[in-house]
Amino acid sequence: MPRTPGQTGAAVQSPRVPAPASAPETFRPTVPAEQWGDWRWHMRRRVTTVEKARQWIHLTPAEEEAIAGTAGKYRWSVTPYYASLMDPDDPLCPVRRQAVPALGELAEYTGAEVDPVGDMFYRKTNRVVHKYPDRVIMLITEACPVYCRHCTRKFHTTDVDGTYFRENEGSSYDEDLRYIAAHPEIRDVLLTGGDPLSYQDGRLETIISGLRAIPSVEIIRIGSRFPVLLPQRITDEFCAMLARYHPVWLNTHFNHPKEITAEAAAAVDRLLRHGVPVGNQTVLLRGINDDVETMRELMRALLRIRVRPYYLYHCDNVTGVSHFMTSVEKGWEIMEGLQGHITGFAVPQYVLTTRIGKIPIARPYFTETPAGLRLRNYRGEEMAVDDTVCPIREEAGPR
Ligand SMILES: *Cc1c(COP(=O)(O)O)cnc(C)c1O
Ligand code: SF4
Repeated sequence: MPRTPGQTGAAVQSPRVPAPASAPETFRPTVPAEQWGDWRWHMRRRVTTVEKARQWIHLTPAEEEAIAGTAGKYRWSVTPYYASLMDPDDPLCPVRRQAVPALGELAEYTGAEVDPVGDMFYRKTNRVVHKYPDRVIMLITEACPVYCRHCTRKFHTTDVDGTYFRENEGSSYDEDLRYIAAHPEIRDVLLTGGDPLSYQDGRLETIISGLRAIPSVEIIRIGSRFPVLLPQRITDEFCAMLARYHPVWLNTHFNHPKEITAEAAAAVDRLLRHGVPVGNQTVLLRGINDDVETMRELMRALLRIRVRPYYLYHCDNVTGVSHFMTSVEKGWEIMEGLQGHITGFAVPQYVLTTRIGKIPIARPYFTETPAGLRLRNYRGEEMAVDDTVCPIREEAGPR
């Protein structure tokens, strides 16, 4: 039976999970359910041209100019699934802003750098970045189903010329695995990229089984935006493959409540049923999610689909991304609109990613005074806790 993209036959759909907005059928292409559910179909039919984009949205002159202007510089691609979430008439649509090039990508910003967090500085092999003692990331590909306009690794995932994998993305992982095996302090390997799930299951299994054969590797983590950009990729077969190599964790990247669709909920449900815990990192993005109400709704929606919020990243000053940057004050306003107002474990950690690591930058809820701690709560009420009641210093101890 033909259907409009966005409709779903997902069995787990609950009334609390909003179904994606269905579009006027006259505008968006009608796709048979079988094809809509097949991730390979979406990958083959990704939007990469103005003509294809016009099947989904009314492009504005500024968007067309940005598509042309970024063409030789940054990659562009949108899955039909993610395109179906875009508002056809509203250029400020938060999904659209993440997926359609903007002129801001071409503007020059003070302080912008291609790699402000120093991934390349900490690179030990072609793919392994070793920055923290006990864990590494493995950049296994530069390919993604959608090239997010705000990508922090824009130099690597969407830069047409600058990707280091152009020459180096070979099929041998020996050197990377040897490095990890030779450093038994590495207990945690995070596969990222690009999006690791751009690979077929077989190739991923080669890497994951190689890691599992290293006794010192305790946990394997995957960073993937497929649950958001093309949830159909999270098949039962894929999840069953992961389940053979437990403990495996997956972290994804929802930025806006509009992205929490029935398809996304079903993908998360498949992962959870196979024992893969799912976490989420959000990037604080100007014009997309930089207000308290949107963030509250996002965090609540994540809990409804059983995804645990993990990090809220302050948007780094990355070349081509600076126009999405907010102030830290905006981040504080949002964090203080979450903390205490919603379930404790719905509150992510607000961090700035730097050369020296991810640094928590939320404001504390206490100050130290000679008399003891001074506390404030989520409503701004204050309270002093006497040092005899709650000693600050070890030597003051219980007495
Ligand atoms: C983010 C990151 C990790 C993982 O950090 P966690 O805080 O444990 O999630 C590991 N290595 C690098 C280089 C990273 O950027
Ligand atoms: S999926 Fe992740 S790595 Fe790929 S472009 Fe988006 S944010 Fe960047």
